[in-house]
This record gives sequence, structure tokens and C-alpha cells, in this order.
Amino acid sequence: MDSRNNPTRIIVLGGGLSGLLAAWHLREAGHPVELWEAAPRPGGWAQTLPWPGPQGEPGCLERGPQALRVVCGGALERVTRELGLNGQPPGSKGPRWLGKAGRRHPSPATPWGLLKAPGLGLGGRFRMLAEPLVPGGRDPAEDLHTFFARRLGEGFAWELLPALVAGVLAAPPERLSIEALPRLKQLEARGGLLLGGLRAGRERTCVPVGGVGTLAQALADQLGCVFPDRPARALESLPGGRWRVHGDSLTREADAVVLALPAPAAAELLRPMAPAPAGLLAALPHMDLRVWHSRHAPVPGWERGFGLLVHPPEGRGLLGAVAFAADDPRGVPGLLQIRTYLGGAYAVEPDREAWPGVFCALRQWLPELGEPVQVREESCPAAFPLLEPGHGARVERIGEALPPGLHWLGAARFGSGIPDLTAGIEAWAEGFPVGS
Ligand SMILES: Cc1cc2nc3c(=O)[nH]c(=O)nc-3n(C[C@H](O)[C@H](O)[C@H](O)COP(=O)(O)OP(=O)(O)OC[C@H]3O[C@@H](n4cnc5c(N)ncnc54)[C@H](O)[C@@H]3O)c2cc1C
Repeated sequence: MDSRNNPTRIIVLGGGLSGLLAAWHLREAGHPVELWEAAPRPGGWAQTLPWPGPQGEPGCLERGPQALRVVCGGALERVTRELGLNGQPPGSKGPRWLGKAGRRHPSPATPWGLLKAPGLGLGGRFRMLAEPLVPGGRDPAEDLHTFFARRLGEGFAWELLPALVAGVLAAPPERLSIEALPRLKQLEARGGLLLGGLRAGRERTCVPVGGVGTLAQALADQLGCVFPDRPARALESLPGGRWRVHGDSLTREADAVVLALPAPAAAELLRPMAPAPAGLLAALPHMDLRVWHSRHAPVPGWERGFGLLVHPPEGRGLLGAVAFAADDPRGVPGLLQIRTYLGGAYAVEPDREAWPGVFCALRQWLPELGEPVQVREESCPAAFPLLEPGHGARVERIGEALPPGLHWLGAARFGSGIPDLTAGIEAWAEGFPVGS
């Protein structure tokens, strides 16, 4: 909706991708917007941080995603194209493995891996091939285990799915709602995961030149109204559904305020004046992720990077690892750069709390790996929302309970995957100020 004749003055709180995308769409629609970010830099989890090599060589690590999955014709592709971020080199293309029953197998996320997948048997493989004949489900709050068991069979759901879901959402499939991965429902509506996937068009994995953080930085640069180091401390309701936002040393008024904040931070701000939505937001569970970055001598055969997912609970908290390709400009030439992730909704065994234990666990799956020359931990507290069955109904209740003029966006509303987040925010902005 173009609002140039009747602009609403909006303050967006939170300069992660959610806030940046919301501000970008609202400004495109003609609304005067300003964005407050508590941290010194915008981006939230989507930041590419400097991590010099052992001799001080330039190098980086990704705080959150290492690459973006871009669906052709999707919202993320539109944003990256409009920002002029096209033409990025692809993400790592090396081997993809599933660690299960003590050894590495080809990842079941590829057709070859599916054919060779461990633990399925002939019956399980035939059951998967029958997927296009399975009718669509009716339960909008189905859990991911039930969804995949229905579509691809119990064998897939028990033997392969847990590692795939742990690698993306860091939680067991039975604890997650299908709403955590909205694209699955879209594929089912198009004829199933196999046919729908073919019909939905191409997807590619890419990395903006300079890293994933470039996406956030490009949004912030184009917006020109992003104020870092400006945490919102309190909200005050004014007559007529208007709002006053209090920072450390300034106060601003707005017709609408967008809380593009993690649910716990949004709950904190709302508690004094809107306890009902604050309570609902605070009740949305979040998980901590522990991430270790390490650099090692190169390993022959891994020049194009690798990906490893570990079948829970075999990993005992270790969910997987992923490496940059050797020519990835974010890494340091001559060194293999890996990110290892642990935790989420899985308990981490005490021997995996510190690097020596994590390295020992990694070596069980990657015996080729030599001692690291550099190690760094970047913890991600409350990084992932746990979108449980029934999540959509909770989100609706939050929307209904929010006072007029307040909006809440974020990974816990639209799904933590950046393509879902981008699509959700684009649709939300099209309905603004009519939608919630
Ligand atoms: C390790 C890791 C790996 C990931 N990998 C992938 C992946 O491969 N693919 C994918 O699609 N997604 C991935 N994600 C998820 C994705 O990064 C997130 O879903 C997304 O970045 C969330 O953006 P957001 O803006 O909603 O939240 P955030 O990034 O958390 O941003 C919220 C912002 O609000 C600010 N803030 C908080 N309180 C206040 C306040 N009072 N006032 C002002 N500002 C405030 C914070 O400083 C922060 O900048 C990953 C996440 C992590 C942590």
C-alpha cells in the first residue's frame, strides 16, 4: 500500500534483519521511519565479524548464518536484487554427511544420499517413493515428526529426520510445529515434497560478497535512518493510539511502534503497560546455541568445504559442523575454517562444554582433522525460538492482545529461517497499517 498521501510516523525497535526489513518495506511504502538498535552495529545475528588469522591476516566469522538459501522468485531474492547484492559466489559445495551409527554417510538431503541412507531398508525406501500419492494433511498445528512420517514414512521420520531438523532448527522434530517451516506446507499444497519441490522452482545457496552481514549492512546503509547504540528502555501510551519511546537520553513520539525484537526483549518492554501480551511473549520458549569456530591445516578432499549433521542423540549435544570452501574470502588462505554447533533443545554432555571435549567429539566423525591453530567460541543465547505445536494460535493471541499502534515481528512470529522471515515481513508490510 502506498502511503505517501497519509504517512504514518513509525519507530522500529531492533536492527536485526527483521527490523531492517520492516523499516525498508515501510519506507518504500512512503512512511517516515526511524530504527533504534541497542548494539553498536546493526544486523543482530546476521553479522560478519572480523577474526584475523594467526599472523594477523584478514579473516572473518559469521555470527549467525554462513549462507543464505534464496528461492527463485521469493521475497529474499527480491530484496537482494533491489539492494544490488546479486552475483554472489555460491556457498560451500563440498561433501555433505550424516553422522550415524558411528560413521559418516552421504547426507539424506540429496537424492543420492536418500538412496544410500542408513537404517531405512527396502520398505522404507519404497515408502518414500510413494510420497506424491499421499494426500495433504488437515492439522495446521501438526508436529514435524508427524508431518514427515505421514509424507515420507516412519523410517525416514525416525532414522533421518532428527539430524536434518537438529541441523536447521536445533530441536527434535516432535517438539516443533510444521509452522516452524512454512515452506513445507506450501510444497504440500503444490503436490507434495517431491513434486511440489520440483514445481516450486530453483533454490540456490549464496553468500553476499563480504559475508551474510553485508545484507544487513546494505539495508542499514540504504535506509539511512538506523541509529545504533540506541536501546529502547520504555514505552508510553499516548491518546489516539500514539506512542512515546524512551531511550537512555532521548524520547520520541510515533504513530506506530514496531517491536522487531526477540520475544523476551519485547516482553520486557511491554510488561509495565501491556502485561497480557508481555506474558504471552515471555512464554514463547527460546533455546541457546553454542558455536565454536576453529581453524585447522587443510584436509585433502575438503577444498570445497563440507557439511556434517549428527544423528541425535548420538551427538550427545553435538549437532553438526560446517566448513568454508578453501577459496572463501571470509577465511584465511591456507587454513580450513569450521563452525561447530552444539546445544539448542538438546542437552550438552559435560565433557562437551569446553573446546577439548568438543574437538574430541568432532574427531570421532572427522578423524582427518588436525589440531586447531585458532579457536573461538561465540555463544548464541536465546538465539532460536522453539516453535512448538500450537505456535500459530499463540502468535494470533499475541496480535490480538497488543494495544493499537504496537506491532511485533521476528523469527518467533514468522520462523527463524531468513527466507521465511523475509517473506513474512514483506506480507506484513503490505497489510500495514491494516494488519497487525
Ligand atoms: C548460529 C546461528 C546460525 C543461524 N543459521 C541460519 C541459517 O543458516 N539460515 C537462516 O535462514 N537462518 C539462520 N539463523 C537464524 C537467523 O539468523 C535469525 O532468525 C535472524 O537473523 C533473526 O533476526 P531478527 O532481526 O528477528 O533477530 P535478531 O538478529 O536477534 O535481532 C534483534 C535485534 O534487536 C536488538 N535489540 C534487543 N533489545 C533491544 C532494545 N531494547 N532496543 C533496541 N534494540 C534492541 C538486538 O541488539 C538485535 O540487534 C541462524 C541463527 C544463529 C544464531
